Amino acid sequence: MQKPGTTLPKTIIDFAVQCHTCRKWRKLETEEHFEEFRSKHTKDRFHCNKLPGTTCEDTTNIINYDSSRVWAMDKPNIPKTPQGFKRIVSMRNDCSKLDVQYLTPQEKKIRSSVEMACYLDKHPEFKDLSPSDFSFMAPKLMRDTVPKIVVKDPASGTKQKKNDKNKQ
Ligand SMILES: [Zn+2]
Repeated sequence: MQKPGTTLPKTIIDFAVQCHTCRKWRKLETEEHFEEFRSKHTKDRFHCNKLPGTTCEDTTNIINYDSSRVWAMDKPNIPKTPQGFKRIVSMRNDCSKLDVQYLTPQEKKIRSSVEMACYLDKHPEFKDLSPSDFSFMAPKLMRDTVPKIVVKDPASGTKQKKNDKNKQ
């Protein structure tokens, strides 16, 4: 999920999870927390009381689902990112969709399962990992929360330069 600004941020700013009882969205402290809940979404649904000292009546850490932020819904049950790796979700410059990449401990960017399989093959130190420990399924961009007029700031597009082959 992303917060608004004069330009749209390219990366995720806040992480939230929805309570299965009261349907409130709760902001989580860390991405790790978020990944933990996401990885067992179906088996073990989230409820407010899974956060220490929190009940459904609590109004702290609540985020309303509205267009004051751009929302992206992750698919459920995506594996927790293996230690040393980082899962990066970024928005395309034209706000059409999101892309998922993994950053390896060597800071190499991996963009697909095929690339990941290849990388793991070449790195015996990760022999305990398999491509299925990574998911390149992008979160769904919630169209109703994307501002109609997107002001583009050329300076903020540098992180995505390598994706420019998508342009006409
Ligand atoms: Zn609740």
